[in-house]
Amino acid sequence: MLATSGDSEIAHIRDAVRALCAKFPGEYWRALDRERAYPTEFVRALTEAGFLAALIPEEYGGSGLTMRAATAIMEEIQASGCNGAACHAQMYTMGTVLRHGSAAQKQRYLPGIADGSLRLQAFGVTEPTSGTDTLSLRTTAVRDGNEHYVVNGQKIWTSRAEHSDLMLLLARTTPREQAKSRTEGLSVFLIDMRAVEGLTIRPIRTMMNHATTEVFFDKMRIPADSLIGEEGKGFRYILSGMNAERILIAAECIGDAKWFIAKASAYAKERVVFGRPIGQNQGIQFPIARAYAQMRAAELMVHEAAALYEAGRDCGAEANMAKLLAADASWAAADMCLQTHGGFGFAEEYDIERKFRETRLYPVAPISTNLILSYLAEHVLGLPRSY
Ligand SMILES: Cc1cc2nc3c(=O)[nH]c(=O)nc-3n(C[C@H](O)[C@H](O)[C@H](O)COP(=O)(O)OP(=O)(O)OC[C@H]3O[C@@H](n4cnc5c(N)ncnc54)[C@H](O)[C@@H]3O)c2cc1C
Repeated sequence: MLATSGDSEIAHIRDAVRALCAKFPGEYWRALDRERAYPTEFVRALTEAGFLAALIPEEYGGSGLTMRAATAIMEEIQASGCNGAACHAQMYTMGTVLRHGSAAQKQRYLPGIADGSLRLQAFGVTEPTSGTDTLSLRTTAVRDGNEHYVVNGQKIWTSRAEHSDLMLLLARTTPREQAKSRTEGLSVFLIDMRAVEGLTIRPIRTMMNHATTEVFFDKMRIPADSLIGEEGKGFRYILSGMNAERILIAAECIGDAKWFIAKASAYAKERVVFGRPIGQNQGIQFPIARAYAQMRAAELMVHEAAALYEAGRDCGAEANMAKLLAADASWAAADMCLQTHGGFGFAEEYDIERKFRETRLYPVAPISTNLILSYLAEHVLGLPRSY
């Protein structure tokens, strides 16, 4: 793996990701989709190639690549017809440990996360009664002596919990009414799920193959040194990781949009109706061209956000806009691709209906479009806070 990421290195990374993904064609994903099974071999191949360790510095055994290189990896995975949602969290969830963990925590966890021997795929924030409204979460972690916290509560949509060794958990350590401010009183813990009792994981079957779950904590005792950073500051730590997540998910959407556009263009050239290719009709051409233009515009915003992130500049607005525009672009491309294929778009063997279901997630998670619009209205345009 390369330690720098200039244009030629990124081109090389793109080629390598494409070559890896070519070993996991549509049949592989279709079989897993039917069973809602986890793509273990695919995730192993990405891990062994070092792609999921892109953002971990070399001193901890990672590839030490830039955000632009990381976005190229996620984009190529999706553009190849694969699904990076099975493992994207391994790439960015560690950022909270990297930025806010102690030296001992970084030494203990990051090398294992980098080589894949420790899977950090699970991120427990959302609860049944608090999705968008994170600050109202109810899971508690109560200090018990010097050595432990005791966790009680429930999370929902904790994706990949069954395929992860570690979970980054956000829980309340100070009751809301006693906290110094609205945003204080929540804390982040890195939990070794293999070493605890009182943890129950239940899979949730969804419209796509996503390995998501609900997780119950019943008097779950965890070591006090699971706490990341300072007690009570967890919400700030989670927010600080959001920009990387938004940029990388936006890159996934761009990859999906490219896949749909390529698939639709190829089909429009070859499908003959009324004695000529359907792509000769403007009614077919224009939606494909529009989806392409929409994707390219969103892609520019992803690049802008990644460049600002790399430069260490504030990229909150750009990261949010990248996620918003890219999720809209991938969904528009999905709809266009299905329409271009007519009835065949609904047949499993074309992979379109599968990708269509998969890409529909992005306007909802990890943050919904409305919340991004609220962010822009309030923080960029200075409008009154709406919630
Ligand atoms: C497949 C899947 C995987 C996920 N993986 C994870 C994961 O690994 N870890 C994790 O912690 N979470 C995960 N999530 C949760 C995801 O982040 C939430 O679903 C998302 O943040 C929305 O929260 P909610 O579902 O509770 O919706 P709600 O908060 O109930 O909102 C419902 C709708 O109302 C809108 N809305 C709410 N308030 C306002 C407002 N003030 N103004 C305008 N509109 C508003 C929202 O935009 C949304 O469209 C996942 C979700 C799914 C479906």
